[in-house]
Amino acid sequence: MLRVAVVGSGPSGVYTAQSLVQQSGVPGVRVDVLDRLPCPYGLVRYGVAPDHEKIKSLQQNLRAVLEDQRVGFVGNVEVGERGLTPERLLELYHAVVYCVGAARDRRLGVPGEDLAGSHSATDFVSWYSAHPDAADNGFRLDGPSAVVIGVGNVAVDVTRILARGADELRATDVPQGALAALAASRVRAVHMVGRRGPGQAKFTTKELRELGGLGSARVSVDPADLALDPAFADSSALPAVNRRNLEVVRGWAAGAAEGSGAAARDGAAEAARTISLRFFLRPVELLGEDGRVAAVRFERTEPDGTGGVRGTGRYEEIEAQLVLRAVGYKGVALPGLPFDQARGTVPNEAGRVLRDGVPSPGEYVAGWIKRGPTGVIGTNRPCAKETVTSLLADAAELAGRPVPADPIGALRDLGHEPVAWRGWLSIERAESDLGRSLGRGRVKIPDWPGLRAAAREDADLRAAAREGADQEA
Ligand code: NAP
Repeated sequence: MLRVAVVGSGPSGVYTAQSLVQQSGVPGVRVDVLDRLPCPYGLVRYGVAPDHEKIKSLQQNLRAVLEDQRVGFVGNVEVGERGLTPERLLELYHAVVYCVGAARDRRLGVPGEDLAGSHSATDFVSWYSAHPDAADNGFRLDGPSAVVIGVGNVAVDVTRILARGADELRATDVPQGALAALAASRVRAVHMVGRRGPGQAKFTTKELRELGGLGSARVSVDPADLALDPAFADSSALPAVNRRNLEVVRGWAAGAAEGSGAAARDGAAEAARTISLRFFLRPVELLGEDGRVAAVRFERTEPDGTGGVRGTGRYEEIEAQLVLRAVGYKGVALPGLPFDQARGTVPNEAGRVLRDGVPSPGEYVAGWIKRGPTGVIGTNRPCAKETVTSLLADAAELAGRPVPADPIGALRDLGHEPVAWRGWLSIERAESDLGRSLGRGRVKIPDWPGLRAAAREDADLRAAAREGADQEA
């Protein structure tokens, strides 16, 4: 029997587990999927926006994998804590696959970045997604203008959530505190700003187009920004996705009907909010008033002819009481594992972790920590498959080493309190009960004590049932 630990239960971790049980040619394989949270699914639960129900429904596919009898969910266990080093983990399992994602936001590196009211978009996403580490992040939405820096899909997500009316989010599992804050929001203008042109923006067309379909907001684009992009006149050399993006933006600029949502249907006066898409503006400073952000100062850029931009020495300020920096994620080093600081990934060869350039027996990576924070959820499938192919090629050698029969017991001995699948099901029930009590569908529990109490409920009920049975006997 080959015993494998997968660290991280997001898409890359679950696809790795799935690939292991599907591809395994060895007589038997047992996969424990560990997660530091008591809840599975990683960014599908804590990153995909609540109003993207279709993508969220991917959880059903991930669930089927975690319910496979050869796979176990082991929540509430943090590698790196309580003596659970990568070295110790490798004593407990024949192989370990790290699928820990890219946990940190990238920084802008400009003055004023840490003023109150300036946040990473990932913190904002965590907050409206009920990540328990974000429970205390109160976001003030009391000013009329917000600036979102970056033009990737995270920027589009946070722009849409700021612009969407809270009424439309009531039907989702967004936590009650965030829903109340969004309902009371005074944000009226959201400016989403890219440092390069629309032809180089990172968002995908479906996500971009959705901004134009919001009943609550009108999209505007400044034609002067677009004129700077040579691809705007002739986009034939661009990759298909960028070309499609340009078409959408072109439609908005012309005020044309295509996808322009509230602008076309209702007219500017009736939309409660505006989304303004800006390009060729590079953030150089966040300006404050009484310690809070009040505006962002941008330098106007222009194409440098090689796909990049150069500054023009001309500046522009956009008012903002809230700034969300959506400039990408970054991998975080896990003590005891090698790490490439520049790339923010673990050095690897087809998923085999390299220590001093040499594959380290039994250690693997998949997902963003392997290849960097790019691609959509589905990109993790082939990525996981490649890693598993490497692992299974090494399996005969790895499985010869004796490992403990009960690694979960060993985790408990180290002081961890693992939450098993039943504990997670108990959290799901508690979230449905919470929603019912609020007159909503299922509502996420946003804090550690709440999640732990809900997970324990199942263990408490079973202990009480056992006690009752003992007394009857
Ligand atoms: P991203 O796609 O890499 O976009 C980052 C954006 O930040 C780019 O516009 C980039 O501009 C800009 N940027 C970087 N450094 C900057 C700086 N110093 N100043 C100004 N702008 C800067 O990252 P992301 O939006 O965080 O998304 C990460 C991944 O998750 C992507 O693969 C994305 O598709 C995926 N995702 C998908 C969905 C979905 O499918 N619905 C939702 C969320 C996330 P440059 O291009 O000029 O560098």
